[in-house]
Amino acid sequence: MTLHAPYDPDNIFAKILRGEMPCVKVFEDDLALAFMDVFPQVEGHTLVIPKQETARNLLDMPTDKLGALITRVQSVAQAVEKALQPDGIVVTQFNGAAAGQTVFHLHFHILPRREGERVGAHASGGMADLAELETIAAKIRAEM
Ligand code: 5GP
Repeated sequence: MTLHAPYDPDNIFAKILRGEMPCVKVFEDDLALAFMDVFPQVEGHTLVIPKQETARNLLDMPTDKLGALITRVQSVAQAVEKALQPDGIVVTQFNGAAAGQTVFHLHFHILPRREGERVGAHASGGMADLAELETIAAKIRAEM
């Protein structure tokens, strides 16, 4: 996969957006959807994606739509902080397979971090228990 390629409408996040695949939802409005990462690197690992855009990565995203998306990323990160009270929060995103990207629909990772806590491997950890994800998501949703 290269940095620039046609958008694949069958990527997993597009399927989630179309309701063809389930997700544990944290937030949704007309512009963005936030949901729990099902292979979390830390407890509370949350993803934020644009809803209408077919941007594979940050470089593809229409510039005039980016600001609004980032405000959603900030809102979700703020809710994650209030809900889970971590010591720090990593916000990150990857562009291109060579950079570590595995799902080719633009997304931001929000990873709450605690002092001394180990971070799991990116996109190669085990699948989370969905009931546990729902419990965490409910706490975050309550702070949105
Ligand atoms: P990337 O590697 O593209 O930056 O991140 C993709 C993320 O999507 C990874 O952290 C991975 O765990 C997560 N992921 C992959 N498949 C699914 C899925 O079916 N549902 C959810 N909620 N997350 C997924």
